[in-house]
Amino acid sequence: MNTRYQKQALFLGNKGQAQLQNAQALIIGAGALGSASAEMLARAGVGTLTIVDRDYVEYSNLQRQQLYTEADARGKLPKAVAAKTRLQHINSEITINSHIVDINASNIEALVKNQSIIIDATDNFETRMVINDAAVKHSVPFIFGACVGSYGLTFPILPGQTPCLHCLMNHLPLDGMTCDTVGVISPIVQIIASFQVTQALKLLTDHKLDPTLQSLEIWKNEKAEINIANMKNKNCPTCSEHATFPYLSFENQTKTDVLCGRDAVQIRPGSPLPLSINYLSERIRPLVTQVIVNPYLLSCSFEDYRVVIFKDGRAIIHGTNDASKARTVYNRIIQL
Ligand SMILES: [Zn+2]
Repeated sequence: MNTRYQKQALFLGNKGQAQLQNAQALIIGAGALGSASAEMLARAGVGTLTIVDRDYVEYSNLQRQQLYTEADARGKLPKAVAAKTRLQHINSEITINSHIVDINASNIEALVKNQSIIIDATDNFETRMVINDAAVKHSVPFIFGACVGSYGLTFPILPGQTPCLHCLMNHLPLDGMTCDTVGVISPIVQIIASFQVTQALKLLTDHKLDPTLQSLEIWKNEKAEINIANMKNKNCPTCSEHATFPYLSFENQTKTDVLCGRDAVQIRPGSPLPLSINYLSERIRPLVTQVIVNPYLLSCSFEDYRVVIFKDGRAIIHGTNDASKARTVYNRIIQL
């Protein structure tokens, strides 16, 4: 008999182990949280893992993104590809699918359908809202996770039971903090991923999940638990009776246009910028240089790009013709 899962089966029972082996988990984002979750789920023997990521491996990832090596960074391998290779070495008995894509309204539903669970390992709110709409629409549990600095946050979204991300979005205390401005240390990543994977193991083996938001600050050793059961918004556009799933509609999506001959990409967000230009300029100062603000726009330099953001949230990213790269730059600066 295969002893690979012996210790885990002692804990979960043979039935629980079999349930994991028949389950399908979708991990969206293969950065720090996604690497940690994917490795745990692969070792646990979850039968099919699907990894989605739009980015490639860089040296600055190696401090916390445990699936990657210096060779991956040297070769600029897409994270989805490097992650799949590493995970398949860890467990050759499971099926691993990987997709190098930028999640949006046009591709999320096909990915979410037929999944047993979705693990959030993204780095921006717009993508999370798209996933949230698809998860609720297709009744797939979605485990939210986010961290920055030494702080992290996680809670389960169980369609038909708990509030969804749309219900809670205005209550989450992550505004203004990004890994680019305050950095991140790997222990908080491991802790949040561990919470997420524990929820996944419980859910996939028919155990009840508590509707609890866990908030942890490991540097100051502060913890909080918030019961979110009563935070459902009766008129939520995503999870109420009259749901319209706004983030799945094309009109509300961020659109990109490559500006021919200008080595620039225009980004038009689906909804107006939720921040004033002045506030945004203060917030992004540690991240950018050469900031110029006038009543109409903010201009700044970020890495090799010049970025111009207008009051309504529209932006032009100079220095690239690559729409996906431009979106990454935009998301890193705006961090909705
Ligand atoms: Zn909701």
